[in-house]
Amino acid sequence: MAARKLKIYETCMASKNKQFGRKAILDSHVYCFNRGYGTLDGCRCQWICSHKGCNVTLLADSDGNIKKEPRDHLHYPPDAASREANIQVGKLKKNAKETAAKTSEVVDEVRNNVSIAILGRMPSKQSLLQQVQRSRKEELNAPANPTNFVNLVIPHKFSVHQKRDSMGGAELVEERFLQSEIPVADKKILIFARQKFMNLLEDTVDWLIKIIKG
Ligand SMILES: [Zn+2]
Repeated sequence: MAARKLKIYETCMASKNKQFGRKAILDSHVYCFNRGYGTLDGCRCQWICSHKGCNVTLLADSDGNIKKEPRDHLHYPPDAASREANIQVGKLKKNAKETAAKTSEVVDEVRNNVSIAILGRMPSKQSLLQQVQRSRKEELNAPANPTNFVNLVIPHKFSVHQKRDSMGGAELVEERFLQSEIPVADKKILIFARQKFMNLLEDTVDWLIKIIKG
């Protein structure tokens, strides 16, 4: 008998390990990738049920062929719309990390392409917008707050703004975002701005400045 197979979905892939965040379906239950390890018989992936509180696992090879069947779940599998909603939220997080589209565009892209039934099982639009922002924050993996300002070096990825190529290229292009670093006593003034807003300022007579002390 041929091995049973997991249906694996490309959902939110973390940058460090392409497996993490992937989801899969077997017998109507949704599983999340848990861990992978090598054996003499090849790679084994452990998948765990995505139902809250359920810890049923299964083992599969890297192609999704089942190597150890899961035991019985103590809950019913989600209905088709809930399963699809779960997968779509995973795709949303993947898109959030991999594209430069606006937050609302990432959410609309998913919401506009699912049926009403699936939409009804997905979190609210507001909640999805927050999930996109959270996924992007995780992806940025921002460094810890500096202990002093003198030695503060802004990492390259925070000193540039990534945008879609206006010349039509598929790759993201970078423009300068950190415009100036001005030392003041033992502190620094950092000026972050996109060039188009610098141009606007240049053409503006009155500036309103808000000073935040911290
Ligand atoms: Zn379960």
